[in-house]
Amino acid sequence: MSAVPLRNDQPAINGPRAITVLGATGSIGDSTMDLLRLAPERYQVEALTAHSNVEGLAKLAREFNARFAAIADPARLGELKEALSGTGIACGAGESAIIEAAARPADWLMAAVSGAAGLKPALAAVDRGTTVALANKECLVCAGDFFMQRAVDAGARILPADSEHNALFQALSSGNRAELTRVIITASGGPFRTWAAADIEQATLEQALKHPNWSMGQKITIDSASMMNKGLEVIEAAYLFALSPDQIDVLVHPQSIVHGLVEFSDRSVVAQLGSPDMRIPIAHCLGWPDRIVGPSTRLDLAKIGQLTFEAPDFERFPGLRLAFEALRTGQGATTVFNAANEIAVAAFVGKKIRFGAIARLVEATLEQWVRAGNLAPLTSADDAIAVDHNARNLAASLLPQIAAKAS
Ligand code: NAD
Ligand code: MG
Repeated sequence: MSAVPLRNDQPAINGPRAITVLGATGSIGDSTMDLLRLAPERYQVEALTAHSNVEGLAKLAREFNARFAAIADPARLGELKEALSGTGIACGAGESAIIEAAARPADWLMAAVSGAAGLKPALAAVDRGTTVALANKECLVCAGDFFMQRAVDAGARILPADSEHNALFQALSSGNRAELTRVIITASGGPFRTWAAADIEQATLEQALKHPNWSMGQKITIDSASMMNKGLEVIEAAYLFALSPDQIDVLVHPQSIVHGLVEFSDRSVVAQLGSPDMRIPIAHCLGWPDRIVGPSTRLDLAKIGQLTFEAPDFERFPGLRLAFEALRTGQGATTVFNAANEIAVAAFVGKKIRFGAIARLVEATLEQWVRAGNLAPLTSADDAIAVDHNARNLAASLLPQIAAKAS
């Protein structure tokens, strides 16, 4: 059995479904809570988590009468307790509380923490056999096959919530596994799609945060501008659907209407389309294996008029090339790719490096990692967590020289 399920292997659930949202105060969290609001009688919110936004978390916990609320920042426990006083909602703080939230009994859990910090909590949910809607791609890229293997071992279902992967998930049901020849994930191209390399090099934080189509959290918005996000998604697709790098193509599609396409052996190509609104793929995960009524704008292709496509440019967007290389290298390279990118994005946000240096830091970290003979098959998710830790240290140690070097 694959951890990404076939359409008809979901047991019926009687009564309200117990729902947990990790990263409830973020952009995906927000879209998820919006969907729960449409039919509150169908859901009992078990647990909600956030990093440091006590006010936002407490507001949601009160509104949905959650059983448990967890804040990652341990210094905020007092504030959270106060904000929830008189409600009877239990709460906790620190990484252990986030893991506790994830491990509580839930029928469906949204994994929407940003970054590999979401890995341990997502694994805690997987180990309980929970159905996990996975938005948090970095945690999958970090742990790779081991995340999917843990899901298979525990009988957990992984429902792809990332729009491209959700599109593939939907399109895949048109054929069987042996008939699949290729998948194509689309990319908007981000705000720098038409920019010259020299201008991309100097792009400011403000420019990187202006995504043309999607409204998202800060980290993924910067990843979209560098196309590191598409690189992470190529790796995500490989692990989710057990594909080789040669079976995955990227297509730039500036309108973000066609999200993913699956090619079968007879050369039929099946695609999923929809407005660029994350509530569509999240609604698919929430309703799965049925469909719920969604609040998103109906697709009006006549109004949109034109859908255009172009090949990605691996020169101006080296992050995409590096992702394919890391995937081909294996042996922990994708874990290093993700860790170095997280360090690079934080350094760019902190104005320590230029935009163009993000990919250079990732490349230098991967090169140094390989040169030091650190490549080794990962044997467990704990192995991946150790590689993540060491790769972050390596990337941080390379930062000063990358920051000092001109392009
Ligand atoms: P966001 O920054 O808006 O929200 C992140 C959430 O995680 C917040 O609730 C934050 O409080 C919490 N969080 C952050 N760091 C944490 C930590 N160390 N421990 C515990 N909680 C922490 O991000 P987002 O845009 O909602 O993205 C979340 C995930 O979903 C990312 O992995 C992203 O790549 C993926 N994703 C997002 C979109 C989108 O449209 N926003 C689309 C596809 C996939
Ligand atoms: Mg995506």
